[in-house]
Amino acid sequence: MSNIVLPHDLDKSLHECIQLLESQSSVINDLPPLERALAYYSIYYKHKLHVLLLHEEYGGLSASFGHAGAIVEKLAYNYYNTLPTLLTTIHCNELIKSFAYKNKKEWLLNAVSNTQKPLAFCLTEEQGGSDITSIQTTAIKKDTKILINGKKVIVINSGIASYYFVIAQSSKKGRAGLNAFLIPETADGISFEKLDVSSFLHSVIGSVSFNNVTIDSQYQIGDEGSGYFLLTEMLDKGRPLVAACCVGAAQHALDIIIKHAKTRKQFSRYLFDFQGISFPIAEFETRLHAARLLYQDACKKIDNNEPFTKEASMAKFYASRLFIDITNFGMDMLGYRSIIDTSEMKQLNDFAKTMMFIDGTENVQKMIIASLL
Ligand SMILES: Cc1cc2nc3c(=O)[nH]c(=O)nc-3n(C[C@H](O)[C@H](O)[C@H](O)COP(=O)(O)OP(=O)(O)OC[C@H]3O[C@@H](n4cnc5c(N)ncnc54)[C@H](O)[C@@H]3O)c2cc1C
Repeated sequence: MSNIVLPHDLDKSLHECIQLLESQSSVINDLPPLERALAYYSIYYKHKLHVLLLHEEYGGLSASFGHAGAIVEKLAYNYYNTLPTLLTTIHCNELIKSFAYKNKKEWLLNAVSNTQKPLAFCLTEEQGGSDITSIQTTAIKKDTKILINGKKVIVINSGIASYYFVIAQSSKKGRAGLNAFLIPETADGISFEKLDVSSFLHSVIGSVSFNNVTIDSQYQIGDEGSGYFLLTEMLDKGRPLVAACCVGAAQHALDIIIKHAKTRKQFSRYLFDFQGISFPIAEFETRLHAARLLYQDACKKIDNNEPFTKEASMAKFYASRLFIDITNFGMDMLGYRSIIDTSEMKQLNDFAKTMMFIDGTENVQKMIIASLL
């Protein structure tokens, strides 16, 4: 686990939050999916973790990225399935803070915080996946209004968010035409369809459609044509925290494997006593340490205002690949126990597969790293 020491207030908040998660989780897990995701989010909301990175003047906890990474890793150890809801909200708040004009920033951050609901980030479309410049959702300006039409096919917090952070094309095509908008859940013409994704047990995922949604131009975030820059900033800054989430959950998986290998006997010896078992475990322990250092390095660079894009992609690529490798090994190590529906390893393995896509696939991370060499 991360050895970063948190400031007293943050440590206290995290400790109290984990206590509440521990005491409430068995009740929350029995709720239907949407209520379940919101109930977990309300615990994070209560401890202000949704505004973890925001300055106190905006009601936040003023955490550095380094501290945020340590918190995410710790929460991911047991509550990885609840984190997509929280992480998306943290990222959206960070974007509003960085890109909203000064006079709008305060009321927007207050508006989104006070709803007690998470935020959603809407980018991916049927045609526009890894290639974000080919998205087709349109945002057409008419006087002080903006008309939005299109469909985002896979969005975390679809149907439970208070505001939807939407990337759309204005009159120009390609990067120069991309803009960002914040759309309230109450807007006429917005609709949601839930996707059943078993690996997302305590978070909600689905599509979001915009059918002649009209918003006031004050909901545009950033200058005209700044959508691409805003987007890359969001994805870049999100990656170290996604990596921290993978590291925390992967550590959980490895601990299950080690415990099993040290208690399960076959051929009159503990599995751990066979080098065919203990050597891969030693390798995973080493890679996990490296993954932790990678995300911590990217966080440190963000905190020091140094270039961090390459390091953020390296951290995400390495941690999400490792998470899959450890849980694939775990599925094998636990034998028949791993395929039973209630198996924790199965849940971790399913979750690992979804983390490969969030904030860009493995190949997209390699493209970014290669482009900076
Ligand atoms: C669980 C989950 C949650 C998500 N949440 C959100 C969300 O909240 N909001 C949102 O907007 N999106 C979200 N996404 C979408 C995610 O960002 C996309 O899945 C991702 O960007 C990849 O797009 P795609 O799935 O269309 O794959 P594609 O872009 O079609 O890629 C398919 C494969 O081809 C590879 N590939 C593509 N281009 C190249 C290339 N040039 N060279 C080499 N390989 C290439 C990719 O790496 C991938 O392996 C989520 C996805 C998942 C799985």
